[in-house]
Amino acid sequence: MGHIIKSKERGNLVVISGPSGAGKGSIIQEVIKNNDNIWLSVSMTSREIRGQEVDGKEYYFITREEFEEKITHKEMLEYTEYSGNYYGTPRGKINEHLEAGQDVILEIEIEGALNIKKMIPETIFIFIMPPSMQELKKRLEKRKTETEDKIIRRFKRAYQEINEVTKYNYVIVNDELDQAVSKVKAILLAERCRVDRIEEVYIGNEEEILHENLVDNKNIVNLERKI
Ligand code: 5GP
Repeated sequence: MGHIIKSKERGNLVVISGPSGAGKGSIIQEVIKNNDNIWLSVSMTSREIRGQEVDGKEYYFITREEFEEKITHKEMLEYTEYSGNYYGTPRGKINEHLEAGQDVILEIEIEGALNIKKMIPETIFIFIMPPSMQELKKRLEKRKTETEDKIIRRFKRAYQEINEVTKYNYVIVNDELDQAVSKVKAILLAERCRVDRIEEVYIGNEEEILHENLVDNKNIVNLERKI
């Protein structure tokens, strides 16, 4: 028996944003764990390496000069300057992964997100909110990997970013990590079930299928004999 629908196999492009300290990183790590259907794009940045970060894992850490060269050679799908450093998404293998049916996650700030929206409107936009501004401040201070001046800059930026939440499709408050992770997974699953992903519907002929069922269904035949 054939399938009733044929849906687009191409994966979804998913942008996840939210202020620094909202917990995007931890959520995404949990979402992609043991899931080959999702590919996380690794961005490039000119900022200094922080704490336990590893080059090629959290980011590709490059110099400002190297970054500017990549901009000139159009190697960035989008990029921005944030807190005095460059951040960008290398075009690289994004399309390849989408074509292979994987969802591709970009963890980027709002300006980059809005640029992606202009270029690729069908992208899914998810915004991660901290439970409160007090909690956000606490989380930023706890990191202890940045100077006070930088923490203040990030905190101020958070106020501007939260105002832009209505430009996104989904919002998740990161109060409990497990719940936030489940919500992201639920969104990705629901997006796969969208009717606009359907390419063809095979419903056949009503009369023929009705007849086919009466003749082929052994249970019905047995039942008739018993009677
Ligand atoms: P952090 O320094 O805390 O790792 O990142 C600072 C901000 O840059 C975060 O909001 C993060 O989402 C954003 N970011 C990381 N990679 C990219 C990127 O490739 N493009 C853009 N536009 N923003 C990025």
